[in-house]
Amino acid sequence: DVRVRFAPSPTGPLHIGGVRTALFNYLFAKKHNGTFILRIEDTDQNRYVEGAEKYIIDALNWCGIPFDEGVDKNEKFGPYRQSERKHLYKAYAEELIAKGKAYYAFDTAEALDAHRKDHEEKGKTFIYNWHNRLKLSNSLSLSKEEVQAKLDAGEDYVIRFKSPQDETLHLKDIIRGDIKIDTNILDDKVLFKSDGMPTYHLANIVDDHLMEITHVIRGEEWLPSLALHYQLYDAFGWDAPEFAHLPLILKPTGKGKLSKRDGDKLGFPVFPLQWTDPKTNEVSRGYKEDGYFAESVVNFLAFLGWNPGTEQEIFSLEELTEAFDLARVNKAGARFDPDKIKWFNHHYMQEQHNDELAEAFKVQRTELADMDVNYISMVIGLVKERATFVSDFWDLSHYFFTAPTEYDEKASKKAFKDSTKDILTQVISIIETNEDFTAETLQNEIKGWITSNEIGFGQVMMPLRLALVGALQGPDVFDIIYMIGKAETIKRIQNVIA
Ligand code: GLU
Repeated sequence: DVRVRFAPSPTGPLHIGGVRTALFNYLFAKKHNGTFILRIEDTDQNRYVEGAEKYIIDALNWCGIPFDEGVDKNEKFGPYRQSERKHLYKAYAEELIAKGKAYYAFDTAEALDAHRKDHEEKGKTFIYNWHNRLKLSNSLSLSKEEVQAKLDAGEDYVIRFKSPQDETLHLKDIIRGDIKIDTNILDDKVLFKSDGMPTYHLANIVDDHLMEITHVIRGEEWLPSLALHYQLYDAFGWDAPEFAHLPLILKPTGKGKLSKRDGDKLGFPVFPLQWTDPKTNEVSRGYKEDGYFAESVVNFLAFLGWNPGTEQEIFSLEELTEAFDLARVNKAGARFDPDKIKWFNHHYMQEQHNDELAEAFKVQRTELADMDVNYISMVIGLVKERATFVSDFWDLSHYFFTAPTEYDEKASKKAFKDSTKDILTQVISIIETNEDFTAETLQNEIKGWITSNEIGFGQVMMPLRLALVGALQGPDVFDIIYMIGKAETIKRIQNVIA
């Protein structure tokens, strides 16, 4: 059974790249009838941010990609917050020591700094591994008694992984293929810290094993850790899951990685939801609050690093699940194009229910407070073809709600001629006597009258539209007349010929 996890650290709001990782995990799980798990990796207490966990869960839910199992939900392998599992990790670190795969190290921060400086002065880089380890203070360089004495005295220690010398590791990644690593370049990573907490590496591997994770799908920034993770599985004697490292997300220019700061600088959100920093009260924009539909965000993110191999771009979540394949994820970085997500939003706007859009529109404009939702909804049906956001509606449709007070100057010069007054007076009488008052009968009558009197269409339609709208824009004039009604139409025409 496929079991995948999204394992964010609650150090702030979920960046759009994190949402992409969650989405690919979700799609992979659903495609294989598997389980999508949320685990919170909060072992680094210094970086813990209040509200971040809730934000992560809200963001997944808003996107429509909820987890099946995890914090406070179907807790089969719980708890799912690493801080609540902390009692569990030390035994695993000690197991590695017993197996000769890890060791205690007592070096102080000052001592390590001194080694680093010393190396730098000689133009070298200090790596804590086979090369240096015997010169340092640890259970490989000290005698058994010395080590025991230090432990008994309660000296601070960390537990480090013992990286082997002169070996070649063969790693596999579903997206990148086979990777060879020379162990001589690896350092002896810390697995367990003096504060009694495991590091990311140890906790992550232990939990993936205990939670029976079959596939690890995560960002490319974790690729350098893969060698250690492989070795840890091996040291414990556990089967490693399969790995897939997703490509970087690049800035709109294509140069450099998209960062959390880029949104404010470049004028588009980089977070799914709005976020208020609990310390500074600084607000970061979110796609939801900026008027994007969850479908647009999901469809857009799916294409950041993946493509279906066909021309099709519009995919519902179900269609994505059907089409998704890790084998079609690229190695190369994916450029983030904020205009493309607008393009998706325009598309998904057309698929929204007009009633729901009407409710959202009503919330935005006080002018609509007393308006009938059905009327607003019909108006939206007429203009949404040209809208990307709900916030576009007012500019596109205000004349359905209030009479124009200004008339586009250039258009007025073109439309209003000496004959206009007579023409519009006749149009008024046609409208006045039209009994069923539908867009269709109005159109038939007025167009029939234009043809039989051999008047230019523009001479009638341009001033008529200007009178109703204030500009030469908008949907079909007869739809507008029908919508605003007989009395309002006549009043607006009279306004321009008075
Ligand atoms: N806690 C890590 C993160 O914040 C998880 C990385 C992984 O998926 O292994 O991204």
